[in-house]
Amino acid sequence: MAEEVVSDTFKLSSGQWRYDIKTLDTMNDVEPDPGPLAQVILAARQRSDSCLRSQRVDVYLICLQDHAILETLEAHPWLDLFALVLYIVVHELIHIERFSRFKQNFQATPEETHSEEARVHRLTRQIVENLPVAGIDAVLHFFAHWHGPIDALHTPDAIVPKIR
Ligand SMILES: [Zn+2]
Repeated sequence: MAEEVVSDTFKLSSGQWRYDIKTLDTMNDVEPDPGPLAQVILAARQRSDSCLRSQRVDVYLICLQDHAILETLEAHPWLDLFALVLYIVVHELIHIERFSRFKQNFQATPEETHSEEARVHRLTRQIVENLPVAGIDAVLHFFAHWHGPIDALHTPDAIVPKIR
């Protein structure tokens, strides 16, 4: 569902996506990260004979941090698992779409990363807020801090739910 709505928004065909989704038990060589609910990893950069960046094919992994997602649900029992994971996967697919189209550099500075994160949260909100998914309003409320002006984000990390 996440792939479908993000593809629709950015006019992508399903063949243009190069990613996979991993959960903790399938992430053999990826260290679990205690912080965010998920993260995107550049898994492979397929070489091409061309020197054009547009000819390069990058493959990404969305690593869902199961333990962090379950802890979040335990601490916020009004959140729905499906709606939360939908938000997370839409969010990560937007990152991938932006990396793939060079709208965002994978090696960004912390400031760039932070404003990009807020931008991706706002795009995520625009995509999921009108979906007929039970519990999506509660998830949007949970991430509401990210949807306001970027200046308002200078608060301690602990109170801002992170996806990355
Ligand atoms: Zn993010």
